[in-house]
Amino acid sequence: MLYKSLNLKAPKVTFEQAVTLGLAPDKGLYFPDTIIPLENSFFETIATRSNEEIAYTVIKQFIGSEIEENDLRKIISETLCFGFPLTKIEENIYSLELYHGPTMAFKDVGARFMARCLAYFNKNKPNQKNTILVATSGDTGGAVANGFLNVQGVEVVILYPSGKVSDIQERQLTTLGQNITALEVDGVFDDCQDMVKRAFLDSELAHKNLTSANSINVARWLPQLFYFFFAYKELKKMNLPIIISVPSGNFGNICAGIMAKKLGLPIQHFVAATNLNDTIPRFMLDGMYNPKPSKATLSNAMDVGNPSNFIRIQELYKHDFLAFKNDFSSYAFSDEETLVALKDLYTKNQYIAEPHGAIGYLGLKEEMKKHGKSVGVFLETAHPIKFLDTVEPTLEICLPIPTQIESIMNKEKKSIKIKTYTDLKNYLG
Ligand SMILES: *Cc1c(COP(=O)(O)O)cnc(C)c1O
Repeated sequence: MLYKSLNLKAPKVTFEQAVTLGLAPDKGLYFPDTIIPLENSFFETIATRSNEEIAYTVIKQFIGSEIEENDLRKIISETLCFGFPLTKIEENIYSLELYHGPTMAFKDVGARFMARCLAYFNKNKPNQKNTILVATSGDTGGAVANGFLNVQGVEVVILYPSGKVSDIQERQLTTLGQNITALEVDGVFDDCQDMVKRAFLDSELAHKNLTSANSINVARWLPQLFYFFFAYKELKKMNLPIIISVPSGNFGNICAGIMAKKLGLPIQHFVAATNLNDTIPRFMLDGMYNPKPSKATLSNAMDVGNPSNFIRIQELYKHDFLAFKNDFSSYAFSDEETLVALKDLYTKNQYIAEPHGAIGYLGLKEEMKKHGKSVGVFLETAHPIKFLDTVEPTLEICLPIPTQIESIMNKEKKSIKIKTYTDLKNYLG
């Protein structure tokens, strides 16, 4: 399988090269050179298939022969070692819970898959070393740290802003040790991000084989295809048009959903629900892409002003705005609206959501007004415990600590404090 750069000024590469490079040399995002729809018989029989089988069928064309069938099946089954329940909220509205993995964020699936692909490629190269360098404002770091723990030939370096991530998130980054190092930056998230970007461009660090592990990387982005097939597997028997709402920040998750539709998955309509970082809701009004600096909100994993994956979505529609508008809507919601939705979900439906899922729910309700009888799904992308500072006071409840989180609460925090790019460079060596 070959991948092209969406800037079209770099050579096509293999899956392995796309994974190890992250971004193309011309700074473009990698994108599959061909996308072949799946056979009808697959969709007809999907309800009888296991999640592992579905995942294998969906992703194999994007890997080609670069990973042996048995190894790819093993990578998939290790990636999907937890459930993806579809919970009924109200008549014809469901929550697809993506937070039952080890760090209780949907990013676990992408991180686990990518880590295992890199381990596979490094297996026969004892001298190969990759360094995964990530800046995190919260959820990405924990999922990446956990996913890559003890992966052969891979060092993970995570930059996070000191005092700006929650207690649980900090513990997820700083207590693992082994091949994971947390750099605690005296600054804000943007400072971390700037240092990481500078390191990727720094020729003096070329020997470190720096790789990104955000949704720009095809191995983190593509496995998100699975969620949409899992939802369809459960809902097919209802025989209704399906609408899916995705709380969106960098638009990697929803881009995978749209890609699933290109593979033939019968989804009627997609909704990208955002917080006040509304670059895409504004784009949908007039087709003008005007990114803005990000604003801080309660749903902070979606505080993105310039969503990097949107270019991949436009590629899927060959930049045809009208065709795109037919399949896709986007709505923005304030923190106040988010809190009202959180409360409503709890008092009316006894469902405990968190701010990102609540925004997904709001987007879904908005879109469903425009359709006849249909069934709607919103993705719940994090466990409420990850956002307990908002959830507990709003719902006036005390959340029990899940076992995944409990196990890190008493471990010792280890981080290295840094302030400047020179500090980072000295650390990386
Ligand atoms: C990362 C994240 C999102 C946004 O996902 P994108 O693929 O960047 O759009 C939404 N919710 C949570 C909890 C996240 O961690």
